[in-house]
Amino acid sequence: ESVVNRIAAGEVIQRPSSAVKELVENSIDAGASTVSVTVKDGGLKLIQVSDDGHGIRCEDLPILCERHTTSKLSAYEDLQTIKSMGFRGEALASMTYVGHVTVTTITEGQLHGYRVSYRDGVMENDPKPCAAVKGTQVMVENLFYNMVARRKTLQNSNDDYPKIVDFISRFAVHHINVNLSCRKHGANRADVHSGTTSSRLDAIRNVYGASVVRDLMEIQVSDENAVDEIFKMDGFISNANYVAKKTTMILFINDRLVDCTSLKRATEFVYSAILPQASKPFIYMSINLPPEHVDVNIHPTKKEALNSSALTQANTRKDKGTEVSTPTGE
Ligand code: ADP
Ligand code: MG
Repeated sequence: ESVVNRIAAGEVIQRPSSAVKELVENSIDAGASTVSVTVKDGGLKLIQVSDDGHGIRCEDLPILCERHTTSKLSAYEDLQTIKSMGFRGEALASMTYVGHVTVTTITEGQLHGYRVSYRDGVMENDPKPCAAVKGTQVMVENLFYNMVARRKTLQNSNDDYPKIVDFISRFAVHHINVNLSCRKHGANRADVHSGTTSSRLDAIRNVYGASVVRDLMEIQVSDENAVDEIFKMDGFISNANYVAKKTTMILFINDRLVDCTSLKRATEFVYSAILPQASKPFIYMSINLPPEHVDVNIHPTKKEALNSSALTQANTRKDKGTEVSTPTGE
């Protein structure tokens, strides 16, 4: 059974950057206003995510890393959010099958926190009282220690750190009131440090630089055909002056970071057809639509697919909705 669990876990957590993404999302879901990420050896040796969110209650710790825990946790009341983006409730569980997970957490009003380590979905020890500041720190060590081939591939391939930085950067543009930072273990300087701001453009400037911001146009679309059916999109997209070799696509649907290759390709195509200089676009788009129109692939290995007409017709009830995928960091 443990081999089966490990294989399944290795599909949910495909690489260090996918673990980082899941951990940062959890921190943001916990209402954190500061999230700090530290990474060693591209995340294979250590991933540490610290937040100042609401913490995890001691009585929830025993089941924290069981699969599909989500709805069992008392701290989680917002089932609507879970439903809207196909929450799986198995990210943390999966990490315990392919790495060593240690959680330190304190909830409001407690005099001390608790620390506990997990292996293969279960606690290795009873939660130990410990000193803790506000929030939660999750440490994942030796990711894929029990998956020799995966570890080798990741060691041979490019270090996952740039992908981690990329995820944090994209989160920072959307969650402008969360101070996100990311650094290599032992480094004084953070490679991303978003700060908090009240303006989207400031957030983009903090993360991607002033020169990007100079060449952006604001886009806003909203379509309100019925009271209960609202399609809304806003964001920024680069203008004709922008020059870049690589597309930056930051897409959030109902506040979840997703990938949508067909939309990315379509935009690249339009850019290459219209613009005099061969530049790739910078796009930040935040789309809000009724959850029933969004179908996030539940199985993480399944490559995304998009019913492209769905995006434009998302305000009609009869279309079958937009399929997007959770970014795997590939
Ligand atoms: P999911 O996020 O899909 O519910 P996870 O395995 O990622 O599943 O996390 C399980 C649960 O653990 C979350 O629903 C949340 O209640 C709790 N949790 C995880 N990380 C944190 C955190 N940083 N702060 C507070 N609670 C957390
Ligand atoms: Mg999660």
